Amino acid sequence: MPTKSSIYELNEVWFRYNRHWILKKISFQVERGELLGIIGPNGSGKTTLLRILDKILIPQRGKVVVDGLDIRGIRRKEIAQMVAVVPQEPQFSFSFSVLEVVLMGRAPHLRSMGFEGKNDYDIARRAMELTDTWRFSARTITELSGGERQRVLIARALTQEPEILLLDEPTNHLDINHQVEIMDLIRELNTSKGLTVIVVSHDINLSAEYCDRIVILSEGEIHKIGSVREVVTAQNLHDVYGARVLVDTNPASQAPRVTLLSREG
Ligand code: ADP
Repeated sequence: MPTKSSIYELNEVWFRYNRHWILKKISFQVERGELLGIIGPNGSGKTTLLRILDKILIPQRGKVVVDGLDIRGIRRKEIAQMVAVVPQEPQFSFSFSVLEVVLMGRAPHLRSMGFEGKNDYDIARRAMELTDTWRFSARTITELSGGERQRVLIARALTQEPEILLLDEPTNHLDINHQVEIMDLIRELNTSKGLTVIVVSHDINLSAEYCDRIVILSEGEIHKIGSVREVVTAQNLHDVYGARVLVDTNPASQAPRVTLLSREG
């Protein structure tokens, strides 16, 4: 049963790009203010699912309800006022400044052909201070490091003033220090601003460390959804990835900790 605090409710969602169903019979709810992780092998449908949550893609079957409303009835601009996305490795074809990129986050709040006003700049500046990107606001987006660019994209998403933040592999290609920095920032936004966060990640240990609950996708279906402890088990990971792993407890955080084992070991 959907609860009043659910911000998303997916009911038997099916999606295909062409002949093959990519997502099959996906049903789950996301609670308001939770930090939900989505994991699963390459090609299991994680990015496709995020695109459905942002209404970039519309499922052929089933229903997606966001904030109590059928997503099909919500206009693109209204979705963008509610949901912000930090995409995987976006390409910038022009040399935008960092401030220009962050201000793009105001677009859903501007009237058509409108220009940003002082209030929009103030919101962008606050988001940039929070993500520690204000100090390079005049630099060009293409000349930043991966970790800096990721923080700018989070600042742009926050400038949208969303209730829901969707992130697609935000720690990809980052060194370990920046992985922790980005995940700490995401958790801080989740706890202090009450943002609902859904994060797709390949890194099961990071997901186990930071998320409240985890969904594992396997070939377009939900293999398991539940608390980190329920989902991150050697059996589930073997079933879905076919990998031999050892799962014990991280002594510092008490979260499940996954160690990969060689085939022979
Ligand atoms: P994941 O994020 O888990 O790696 P994706 O959602 O990106 O998975 O992809 C799921 C499946 O959908 C893959 O088989 C992929 O090849 C296919 N797919 C993704 N995007 C498209 C597209 N635009 N057109 C056709 N097939 C696609």
